[in-house]
Amino acid sequence: MAWRKWRDALYELLFPGSHQCFFCWKEVEGQVVKGVCEECEEKIMALHKELSGCPRCGHFTGGKECPNCYDWGDVPGRILSVVPYSGIYRDMVYSLKYGGREELADPLSYLMAQRYDASELSKGVDLIMSVPLHPDREEERGYNQSAWLARRVAGWLGKRYDGENLVRLRYERAQTGLKREKRKENMAFAFGVAFPEKVRNKRIILIDDVTTTGATLNACMRVLYEAEAKEVVALTWAAGYEKIV
Ligand SMILES: [Zn+2]
Ligand SMILES: [Zn+2]
Repeated sequence: MAWRKWRDALYELLFPGSHQCFFCWKEVEGQVVKGVCEECEEKIMALHKELSGCPRCGHFTGGKECPNCYDWGDVPGRILSVVPYSGIYRDMVYSLKYGGREELADPLSYLMAQRYDASELSKGVDLIMSVPLHPDREEERGYNQSAWLARRVAGWLGKRYDGENLVRLRYERAQTGLKREKRKENMAFAFGVAFPEKVRNKRIILIDDVTTTGATLNACMRVLYEAEAKEVVALTWAAGYEKIV
């Protein structure tokens, strides 16, 4: 896409000849916006198989029965994830989310798009959306890291991004530390679709940075299905994992 060429050109002007992989710091040629070298890309893309990502919720189970989505009931959700929420993969998303390091969204979104492309899922996607923050929270933080990722995933896949239609209706206190049931309950009425006609009969990829229990993504997927979306798949950078890595 044209904007990416412009950005590459600008990068080249600012940092001539020094493009590093964000994961191993090796110099890479001609991969400015990707920000990941071929070896790291290959290693990262193999993780969901090596660590047995659950085909339903993306949780890395290490081959055991998935302890995360057993109580999902009839939620039609399906979540794809790239890496376990651990080590450098966790650090990167942490810097993106709390450190405001938007440039990290380049390699992360690129690998997310690759993960989706390499999956067996239908490629006839109409729309990319992201999990919204409540406007108060976004104002406080100044950005929404999931929107940063979603906009770029849309760019890599050549699809349209809609960051307006899915909205957050409630401001919940931090979910961390809350029991599973409570998280689910808190989330149930947290989201809405502002213009249902824009998602009707559409195939949607819903983007978030990290998934733990999947409660947030499930709540979003549910309202999108209620608005008669045809198919919704969630795609995240990292997912929870059993202590295997
Ligand atoms: Zn590398
Ligand atoms: Zn699962």
